[in-house]
Amino acid sequence: MNKAVVIGSGAGGAMCARELQGKYQVTVLEAGREFRPFGLDLGLIAGLRWTGLLYDAREIGWIFPAMRMRRAGAGMILVNGSCSGGTTTISTGNALRQDGALKELGIDLDEEFAELNREIPMFSGHQKIWRPLTASFFAICREMGLDPQAMPKMGDYSHCRGCGRCVLGCPHGVKWDSRRLLEQAQKIGARLLTAHRVERVVHDKGRARGVLARHGLRKKWFPADLVILAAGGLGTPQVLEDSGIACDDSLFVDPVLCVAAEMENCRQDCELPMPFAVQMNGYIISPYFDHLSFFFNREWRHKAGNIYSLMIKLADENRGGMSGGRVRKTLTAADRARLEQAVNVCAEIFQRAGVDKGRLFFGTLNAGHPGGMLPLAAAQSGTFHDPRLPENLFVADASLFPVALGNPPILTIMAMAKRVARLCRQAG
Ligand SMILES: Cc1cc2nc3c(=O)[nH]c(=O)nc-3n(C[C@H](O)[C@H](O)[C@H](O)COP(=O)(O)OP(=O)(O)OC[C@H]3O[C@@H](n4cnc5c(N)ncnc54)[C@H](O)[C@@H]3O)c2cc1C
Ligand code: SF4
Repeated sequence: MNKAVVIGSGAGGAMCARELQGKYQVTVLEAGREFRPFGLDLGLIAGLRWTGLLYDAREIGWIFPAMRMRRAGAGMILVNGSCSGGTTTISTGNALRQDGALKELGIDLDEEFAELNREIPMFSGHQKIWRPLTASFFAICREMGLDPQAMPKMGDYSHCRGCGRCVLGCPHGVKWDSRRLLEQAQKIGARLLTAHRVERVVHDKGRARGVLARHGLRKKWFPADLVILAAGGLGTPQVLEDSGIACDDSLFVDPVLCVAAEMENCRQDCELPMPFAVQMNGYIISPYFDHLSFFFNREWRHKAGNIYSLMIKLADENRGGMSGGRVRKTLTAADRARLEQAVNVCAEIFQRAGVDKGRLFFGTLNAGHPGGMLPLAAAQSGTFHDPRLPENLFVADASLFPVALGNPPILTIMAMAKRVARLCRQAG
């Protein structure tokens, strides 16, 4: 059987591994280790907030290695998962179809989305576990004509305990993540090697010959007939750059800013995150307790149980890039203007909930949806293959998006990965 190497085990990589195993003998190379949910008591860590020990968000990696933080421009923190299952393990489980820009390129993923709907449990009936304040914020958004919608979630949320720990890995097995696809792939013979960081793809005469990976101090060679690169919106451009293939300076990240207020005993820290969302032009607003800001931002000095926060997630302009492992990304003037507009909408929501603008405080600017550096164009709508790549090297992750979504991307990444796998099966 021909050999396929899949680089990365997140949304795109795990889907390709599952879809290609059988037609190919698949080996998945994942830089991170096996994922385990964060096990420590958050109350204990909250106690460290005043000691000065929690001064840099990048410290999270010491106690929770699956979560990686790095700095981009303008004080923005970039967050991603580095573990089996990639960033899906630390997601909030949101499942929205977001293929408008792909449709404009002539890409029809109806079949792939229909398959995903059959394969992955989706659940929106979680209103009964919302806390009273969230229910009243939902009603306020309705009154304001913002058309809030309960967020569909991947997993069986009828058993959700509303513990609020989704971004630390669900300890109760409720939330779906792409490890389920890895398990299915492994059951039918695929191999998953964690702690294997791919350094580069070796190619000549327009064909990939295999990949070089590092495992501890050892370098290992993996020959391949097909290489799928799905190391995520930052990992994929890095591997390509180190393989002598330049990407575009069109990085987007979907910046997140939380607007918060002290609201007695609201306990949003112990609630399902992002229970509903309001779709605006170029951003969404959704209730979200921001652990990153709570632990590392001095403005968030109140008790966890007394903070209520609304997240703004922006579809930023795709301007930015990375080289030599350093990310270049700041907000443009248009991004800032849109963010200001979003903050004003949040202020009005809080105002209607009885909180004056003067009592609001902000979270740390952060982002967790990088992508767009090898964007699909209309000319590739049938092949999903960028002409810069060797003929048997495909990208299957968030790098393919032509523009920022400002919305949850997992479902759409998996639909694109399904299409890539199908094209490779047909050609192989
Ligand atoms: C806190 C948070 C919450 C989120 N919540 C949601 C949500 O609710 N719904 C949603 O749709 N999206 C959510 N997202 C975004 C979503 O999880 C990601 O956009 C998505 O997982 C990206 O998929 P991907 O396949 O591009 O990459 P990833 O899932 O990031 O997977 C890439 C994998 O490649 C590995 N890798 C990187 N470099 C190498 C290398 N050189 N060699 C080998 N392996 C490598 C990484 O370790 C990683 O495991 C969230 C993101 C964050 C940060
Ligand atoms: S709120 Fe808790 S139980 Fe529910 S999905 Fe998130 S982590 Fe799992």
